[in-house]
Amino acid sequence: MKLNQLTIAEASKKLQAGEITAVDLARACLDEIKKRDQDIHAYIEVFDDVEDQARAADALRQAQGKNAHPLLGIPLAIKDNILIEGRHASAASKILENYVASYDATVIKKLKGAGTVFIGRVNMDEFATGSTTESSCYGATKNPVDEARVPGGSSGGSAAAVAAHMCLGALGTDTGGSIREPAAFCGIVGLKPTYGAVSRSGLVAMGSSLDQAGPLTRSVEDAEIIFDAIRGQDPLDATTIADNVYPKPTPKKKIGVPCTLLQQGVEVDVMQKFEASLQQFKTKGFEIVDVEIPSAALALAIYYVIMPAELSSNLARYDGVRYGLALKGKDLFEDYAKSRGAGFGDEVRRRIMLGTYVLSAGYYDAYYGKAIAARAALAGEFAQALEKVDVIATPTTPTPATKIGEKTDPLSMYLLDIFTVSANITGNPALSVPMGFVAREGKQLPVGLQLTSAHGDEAALFSIGKEVEK
Ligand code: GLN
Repeated sequence: MKLNQLTIAEASKKLQAGEITAVDLARACLDEIKKRDQDIHAYIEVFDDVEDQARAADALRQAQGKNAHPLLGIPLAIKDNILIEGRHASAASKILENYVASYDATVIKKLKGAGTVFIGRVNMDEFATGSTTESSCYGATKNPVDEARVPGGSSGGSAAAVAAHMCLGALGTDTGGSIREPAAFCGIVGLKPTYGAVSRSGLVAMGSSLDQAGPLTRSVEDAEIIFDAIRGQDPLDATTIADNVYPKPTPKKKIGVPCTLLQQGVEVDVMQKFEASLQQFKTKGFEIVDVEIPSAALALAIYYVIMPAELSSNLARYDGVRYGLALKGKDLFEDYAKSRGAGFGDEVRRRIMLGTYVLSAGYYDAYYGKAIAARAALAGEFAQALEKVDVIATPTTPTPATKIGEKTDPLSMYLLDIFTVSANITGNPALSVPMGFVAREGKQLPVGLQLTSAHGDEAALFSIGKEVEK
């Protein structure tokens, strides 16, 4: 087996035993990038000091011995909307193309503390607005499983880099499914943590009440290792929570399934894989319970009001004065118009318009006010359902990866998020784990199983996720 194909846990053991070095690992990933990334296009930039970082990690291991962090010397890819001091971070947008981060995101600070090696920054939908990574100003990323298909999005570069063994793990961000959906499309694991479990300081904001950073990895154990390293309360993000905020539920050996919701548009063979996974749970002694979440049918509508509202105010800061692209017109207003006009792509503009519309005085009650009320109802229904079961299970997406260029109609792309947006709306943690393959045009395409647990109960996701892997 090649070193770049190891899981983080395996590599970490070998590093600790002195069988391999961080430099070996980094080189194996860099070789794979040379071989494959011209076709896949997961990386926007491969850093020029990767081997130096790895050498520093090897030196640190000498000094730390047994106390070394499990991520010491592990090569990770970082989504382009997470700030690393002194490096470019563009959120795959023309408006930030030349922006260089002046500080580390808290998640980066924590990974640096652990001694992680950063391989490079990876592609994404512009400002994380999409499900396919096609809205990047750098062009699309391809799915390593089938290069005619999208890797999912918006963390498509992260997922593709992990699936193609061009790193051992990656950080992504998830506002409505952007970690879980690409993980499902590429056949890997992705975790959206509890809202507030991971600091948002230093992430390029999309929808602040929805955004969370999290891991994309090749095993559940690896996701847990990264989550443990990046989580925690942070004075720089007032919405972060202490570890003991939520009570730890006792395991019930019960899996909830929202049967009514699943009648909506899941492709037949994806549904079959899902039912096979439920069958597996039964043989392992889990009880399958039908749970009612009536407002889940409204989740997409809620999301596509709240997210654009928050996005439009977050993106108001890109005015050509303080950040990024600055074009000059005849007055200040024209400066704004020119910079924003040239800097933002179509999908981002669509959402800014939608967001400013739903927030405008005349429509606030009709849209934003209603969405907030429906959000509370949905959160209540999830909380109630999760009192009876350990996790709620659904397919991560209704279909496997779609073709590049297929989702030109925004509404049909939004429908891919039907099962993922709920966890962002309610703040619950959710994990996508591979649940097998379905055939499309002669290719076997991976599909994902999504598990959602109570706030703060990532432990249930990890333990049940590991059962699915077995
Ligand atoms: N696909 C969703 C969207 O387009 C989610 C994006 C995300 O999670 N960043 O908004």
